[in-house]
Amino acid sequence: MPRQRGVVIVAKMTEFVEVADRVWVARYEWADVNVTAIGGERGLVVVDTHGSAAAGRIVVEDLDCLSVGPVTHVVNSHWHWDHTFGNVALREAIRDVPIHAHEEAALWLADQGERMKQRFADSPDDPHRAEVAATEIVIPDKTFVDTQMVDLGDRLLELVFCGRGHTSGDIVARVVDANVVIAADLVEESAKPWIGLDSWPLEWPATLDLLLESMTEQTLVIPGHGALVNRMFVRAQRDEIAKIVEMVRYLAGLGIPADRAATEGEWPWEVDERIHNAVMRGYEALLTDTRGANG
Ligand SMILES: [Zn+2]
Repeated sequence: MPRQRGVVIVAKMTEFVEVADRVWVARYEWADVNVTAIGGERGLVVVDTHGSAAAGRIVVEDLDCLSVGPVTHVVNSHWHWDHTFGNVALREAIRDVPIHAHEEAALWLADQGERMKQRFADSPDDPHRAEVAATEIVIPDKTFVDTQMVDLGDRLLELVFCGRGHTSGDIVARVVDANVVIAADLVEESAKPWIGLDSWPLEWPATLDLLLESMTEQTLVIPGHGALVNRMFVRAQRDEIAKIVEMVRYLAGLGIPADRAATEGEWPWEVDERIHNAVMRGYEALLTDTRGANG
């Protein structure tokens, strides 16, 4: 440890850990969110940017400490604040760096980002209130609908839309040569996946089925939050969401009103906001289907 006039200077350590060939993951304490970096001959891609300008600057510092080359591309796995509010810091560090996302993610962030910021402003006890308030929202500029390839020279990063689930624009990033999948918040390890009012629970299991098809038992899966998992974990989480969907359909079929369904149903998870939202979003979708069927 170097010393200068009695001051101990501690070398800054990066949060990033190499989990597969030139694939690094940093798991940040705030929101327990994962940020992934993928290196190739022609650059470095960062998937997700954490939850504020200040948090994004820490990601940039950690990448600098990693010293594996300048960032050439940024990807937002979906629109939520904890994955996108750090965009501004990446743009400060690398002017004009392209930010890839699903078209829906860009639309939602543009439409709802300020409202997300307001939620922090309305929580006086939140320790991150000031840094979120000081964050300028930067909207992804390289949007797509189905797939997009990021060419890193000796390897490709595939960005794929497998369908709606956690949001209407979750994308999965695949590093095929390393058998790694970055699964966005379609999969979560440290908590049950968040089902919000912008989620599509009825479609979520089919989205995960498509993702599962592209995986082997050895695939390393980087969830949006928490520790790394595998195909078996994704399969089990898919089945839990499918059970929730089955129950929503069953209760709706019995004519149980939405406001009673959460308490009357039997769920694979503890009943919290996720289940209430699943009922609400599920009933909405079923009602739309019926109306559609009736012309
Ligand atoms: Zn999310």
